[in-house]
Amino acid sequence: MGDQAPAALIEDLRSEIRQHDYLYYVRDAPELPDAAYDDLRRRLIALEEAHPHLVTPDSPTRRVGAPPSELFGSITHREPMFSLDNAESPAELIEWLGRAERYLERPVGGLVCELKIDGLAVSLTYEDGMLTKAATRGDGVTGEDVTATVRTIASVPLRLLGNPPTYLEARGEIYLPFEEFDRLNTRQQEAEARLYTNPRNAAAGSVRQKDPAITAGRNLAIWVYQVGYLEGGPDLATHSATLHWLGGLGLRVHPATEVVPDASSAIEVIKRVEKERNALPYQTDGVVIKVNDLSDQIWLGSTARAPRWAIAFKFPAEERTTRLNDIKINIGRTGAATPFAILEPVFVGGANVERATLHNEDEIRRKDLRVGDRVIVRRAGDVIPEVVGPITSARTGAEQPWEMPSTCPFCDAAIVRPEGEKVARCTRGLSCPSRLREWLFYFSSRSGMDIEGMGYQTIDLLVSEGLIEDPAGIFFLRPDHLMGREGWGDLSVNNLMEAINVARHRPIARLLAGLGIRHVGATMARLLAREFGSLEALADAGEETLAAVDGVGPVIAQSVTEWFSEEDNRRLLTRMGEAGVQLADPDRGPGSDQTLEGVSLVVTGSLSSMSRSEARQAVEARGGRLVSSVSKTTSALVAGEKPGSKLAKAEALGIPVIDESTLERWIEEGPGVLLNAAPLP
Ligand code: NAD
Repeated sequence: MGDQAPAALIEDLRSEIRQHDYLYYVRDAPELPDAAYDDLRRRLIALEEAHPHLVTPDSPTRRVGAPPSELFGSITHREPMFSLDNAESPAELIEWLGRAERYLERPVGGLVCELKIDGLAVSLTYEDGMLTKAATRGDGVTGEDVTATVRTIASVPLRLLGNPPTYLEARGEIYLPFEEFDRLNTRQQEAEARLYTNPRNAAAGSVRQKDPAITAGRNLAIWVYQVGYLEGGPDLATHSATLHWLGGLGLRVHPATEVVPDASSAIEVIKRVEKERNALPYQTDGVVIKVNDLSDQIWLGSTARAPRWAIAFKFPAEERTTRLNDIKINIGRTGAATPFAILEPVFVGGANVERATLHNEDEIRRKDLRVGDRVIVRRAGDVIPEVVGPITSARTGAEQPWEMPSTCPFCDAAIVRPEGEKVARCTRGLSCPSRLREWLFYFSSRSGMDIEGMGYQTIDLLVSEGLIEDPAGIFFLRPDHLMGREGWGDLSVNNLMEAINVARHRPIARLLAGLGIRHVGATMARLLAREFGSLEALADAGEETLAAVDGVGPVIAQSVTEWFSEEDNRRLLTRMGEAGVQLADPDRGPGSDQTLEGVSLVVTGSLSSMSRSEARQAVEARGGRLVSSVSKTTSALVAGEKPGSKLAKAEALGIPVIDESTLERWIEEGPGVLLNAAPLP
């Protein structure tokens, strides 16, 4: 009797988990974020531990994944494919190792740390070196036959190199790099097809296709991390030796695999990976720690679901559910109305999230977001938070569809969305306070005039007191405008005045970028500044002359001409001039400062004296180019602190490598010093 309630609860949880397993593993279309699904599992595990007599062999806690879909043929694995147990804290990792060592009755001799790639597990069968089968994990015992689609993946060898064994089942993870994921979803959107929730589901959906041509177009890749079954191969004593051997057969093994002596060094590796993983071009959700000694692995064996010799250390959840309390709009510097979500605060990906951009009206409609919905929120690294979509099954009927308001919440002017355009705009022009505020912020930011201290707070004060009504107003500010106001003393007033003064003399490319002319960002501004040298020359150039400039083209030419033809804009520049703002670059003798003409540079690692964008500016101001990848035409690679893989590539191509101080000399004097550049140690 007493067990009635837990038994019912356990059954409910099991059926809920089965339903989500089906959506996730078979349909590749999860409805819950992983963290919410993991909560369900944890609750079930706790209940089963408290009531062991209620455990049944078909419980989702006793098995892997979901039964294979009937859309595919099936393949039985010679050795089962397991899931992994999880640790979420260093203490849980230490506990796992302690358990293993108690089981073995001796210390474990070394651990292997591998990236946990977030994709789809597959087993590749090679017979006499030829790829004969590829299977998904399925329920662990039987998987789906995906040979035809996996054969299209370039990094899966169809034939092994060297001295292949008679029979090999190699296990690995097929994944979709972020770039491909974005590209795929853009294509899906254009075709009005279903969008994939994350790269993992996209990889699974791409492999589990009936038509291999579809898989072939998706640029999937694989990392191989294990032997499942082996016949007629070498005697291997450790997991690390196995990986090395697999690599030698031409299988793609991740280079960031490390052997460490104990749990505390594994924790160091985990910390490092967690810090660096957002720079990787594909998704990782943790580090897998494996006992290195293969005889230890055999001794430890597995539970019904996971090996005892491995554990996955999972990074904090990057997706959570919360309530969409409201949708509001912001008016940007171009007048564009951008909707954003007001969320019930939720802790996700290491931060509290209360707001997330929703891009535009179509995006809200496409995702079918309604005010009051339970929604999935994602935040990865420092990336701005995103609302992935609603959980439609949680709707009560009280949720309200959203529409773009017809008037601006800041100035009451009409908001209009012209036919065929994605963006709705406030029609008031620059006197809309929100628009002015955003323009002043942009004008003063690092992309524009770089006026330190001119943040939103200062801007709000200056605008609300009527002290400035356009960017030129900044240069008419006097110390007595600010002195004595709350938070403004001698020092802060002087600092701001000094920053404004410095900005008066910046190269005109910055002023031009800060004006916010449509299609004229930092790079275009530099090009125009180099070509015309003064705002007056640019204003007088005319559409035809502009369009004839290499790299400009008709759209930009038209937008620039239109901007300069407007009375208000001309007046703005006249006022800038009256306030002492430099409207022409001095000393522009032909070629005098083009020390890097024709030079193409690449930077790797971080520079101490300048940011990447400052380096780019400096190089481009001298006529050179800063590009992002090393090729045969690169003149030199600048290696800063902690250089990345570009260094090896440059060395392999015989491209000169210079350090930061040499770069500084080049900027001043040109690469005449190239020949003397000392190679890096
Ligand atoms: P898992 O992803 O936590 O770990 C096991 C898998 O890790 C292996 O099968 C393999 O594919 C992969 N892996 C990556 N790198 C590896 C390496 N170096 N060595 C070994 N394995 C490596 O476990 P799982 O059973 O595949 O799935 C559980 C996950 O799926 C959880 O994160 C869960 O939240 C999610 N899930 C979510 C839903 C949902 O509805 N949102 C439903 C089911 C499962």
